[in-house]
Amino acid sequence: MDKLHFHTPIEYLKGVGIARADVLKKELQINNFEDLLKHFPYKYIDRTRFYKIKDIQPDMPYVQVLARVTRKELIGEKRTKRLVVQANDDTGIIELVWFQGIKWAEKMLIPGKVYVIFGKPGFFNCKAQMAHPEMDLYLPGAPQQKGNLTLQPAYNSTEKLKQFSLDSKGLQKLIAALLEQTAKDIHENLPAYILNRFKLAGRQESYRNIHSPNDANQLKEAQYRLKFEELFFLQLKLLKTKLTRTQKFKGNIFDKVGHYFNDFYHDKLPFELTNPQKRVLKEIRTDTQRGVQMNRLLQGDVGSGKTVVALMSMLIAIDNGFQTCIMAPTEILANQHYQTIKSLVGDGFIEVALLTGSVPNKARKVIHEKLEDGTLNILIGTHALIEDKVQYKNLGMVVIDEQHRFGVEQRAKLWRKNVVPPHILVMTATPIPRTLAMTMYGDLDISVIDELPAGRKPIKTVHYYETRRLRMFGFIKDEITKGRQVYVVYPLIKESEKLDLKNLESGIEIMSREFPLPQYRISVVHGKLKAAEKDFEMQRFVKGETQIMVATTVIEVGVNVPNASVMIIENAERFGLSQLHQLRGRVGRGAEQSFCVLMSNEKLSHDGRIRLNTMVKTNNGFEIAEIDMQLRGPGNIEGTQQSGVLDLKIADLTTDQEILQQARNLVIEIFEKDPQLTAPENQILNLTFQAKNAGLSWDKIS
Ligand code: ADP
Ligand code: MG
Repeated sequence: MDKLHFHTPIEYLKGVGIARADVLKKELQINNFEDLLKHFPYKYIDRTRFYKIKDIQPDMPYVQVLARVTRKELIGEKRTKRLVVQANDDTGIIELVWFQGIKWAEKMLIPGKVYVIFGKPGFFNCKAQMAHPEMDLYLPGAPQQKGNLTLQPAYNSTEKLKQFSLDSKGLQKLIAALLEQTAKDIHENLPAYILNRFKLAGRQESYRNIHSPNDANQLKEAQYRLKFEELFFLQLKLLKTKLTRTQKFKGNIFDKVGHYFNDFYHDKLPFELTNPQKRVLKEIRTDTQRGVQMNRLLQGDVGSGKTVVALMSMLIAIDNGFQTCIMAPTEILANQHYQTIKSLVGDGFIEVALLTGSVPNKARKVIHEKLEDGTLNILIGTHALIEDKVQYKNLGMVVIDEQHRFGVEQRAKLWRKNVVPPHILVMTATPIPRTLAMTMYGDLDISVIDELPAGRKPIKTVHYYETRRLRMFGFIKDEITKGRQVYVVYPLIKESEKLDLKNLESGIEIMSREFPLPQYRISVVHGKLKAAEKDFEMQRFVKGETQIMVATTVIEVGVNVPNASVMIIENAERFGLSQLHQLRGRVGRGAEQSFCVLMSNEKLSHDGRIRLNTMVKTNNGFEIAEIDMQLRGPGNIEGTQQSGVLDLKIADLTTDQEILQQARNLVIEIFEKDPQLTAPENQILNLTFQAKNAGLSWDKIS
């Protein structure tokens, strides 16, 4: 027989055939042998022990009990017909119910006999219950019973698959058959020195044991091995990309710090830099003197001072005769950067321009000219900056704000404008957990500003139920009396815009009644307004003409009103954590103590409660991001969806931080000693890597 090939289409597996192959592909994206082997159990059911009936709790997963059937009874007519069976051990009674397969169950179950009963327990009228449990006659000491006493894998399946007898059990059988056939073709792909050093189980046995572990320890070893392997090769790929880039792309050398930087630093910078700001500037300095392209991600909470750091790096570029640009995801943000930078550098210091879709043609032409003749130092804008029409004389550095919305391709587009690509600094105010950063941005260097400028008062956050609404209104009045301004934000959910508008409208009504003219003035901003109207309303608030801004989440990014010190979030339970954090970041920008009030329903989901508690507990964006990832999984964190690197089959970025770090460190160490992977002991890595890159099956390499 030909050597087995793991990219063999799944229909060629015995027992699959065209119809089943079709649903496997459609429902689980299992196209070939490898996909099936990597359809790992999502949990294991502990069949190594029997529970006592009295110990069964409502929230337990599948359990196994040993009990004697005492009574069976057919109840109901036709549609409501069911078989109810009672069984007991020496601690209590459990009720077993069948709605389907009644005849068969009735025939099979014999009162007086003891059964191994296995299923997911529920409670009805305070009585333990199980629907459609698996029942095996208990034969003390019988050998076939032993097979049950293991961790039984449970596989994700779907209703559709179940119609083809591919429920968890069916999949288990299929995978067992495949393993049987292919075990000898699963070759080791890590060198012995790595296996030894990290005490990793062999590849073949790991695949076997993860699908049918004999005990918990064996399972743990198999999981560790396969997670390690997955993360290791992912890091190998990411760090190889980085290595190749530094080999391929030269970088502009910013070797001098000249008068732009120095004048700004000594005469214009109105405050002392924080330690993290200094550290990041140093990192960027080092990057831009090496002669290779910088690709750096700068993470830091809102208000941590990223913009200043970006500006100072750009001044160094300008000192070295280069132009720079800042690319923002929205016009509002671009505009805000423009204002911020203008106010920081003052007039007549450097040439800064704003280029967005709404710049009139005439002004646009002037900008283009100044770009081409090199007199424009900093260009700020949206993706209009990377239109082909925009030609720079010598673009030396690009700052990309809010990476999430710019793809790798768009970044690459910028590089083509010069022979030597500009240095890239990506800034994000949505902190992401470390593990996510290491995978999503694993080919970038990462800088973190993890400390707010001194003297900032942490925002005080409280969670109020509806019952405290009047108290909240009173609080708003007090703050307005003190001269502060207030945001009131309502949720906006795409699926139910109507409902949200109603929400907002009734909110506006209540607010207008509670805060009447002429004493109070309110701005209203929502997505249905035209840009000009929106701008007008915003400006009134920015100028202090209104004290209250009632809005939907359109204000999430891009508003900077230091005098606004109160953020009220209505229906806070409907927001995600990162959104809540972003919204809260709108206040706390001035010298005054700021507050955030989370208003919510009494009824909270489990996750909703955790979200609100987290917000009350901490202001730290990185901590919040970690919890967000634990709640929603890495794939649901903002910005990760389009990123293919998260297509992990077994590793879990929420729990496998340590393995990830081990794998990454190891790859770094290997590349330091052997960047081309030419050493004999790394031969196997090189081959695996190349095979993976060529999209070849993993067995092809040996
Ligand atoms: P980010 O871009 O990270 O949200 P910014 O750079 O816009 O933060 O800074 C937020 C505010 O804090 C700005 O008003 C800025 O001038 C100020 N700021 C930045 N760094 C410092 C510092 N080291 N000390 C005091 N204020 C600072
Ligand atoms: Mg900013």
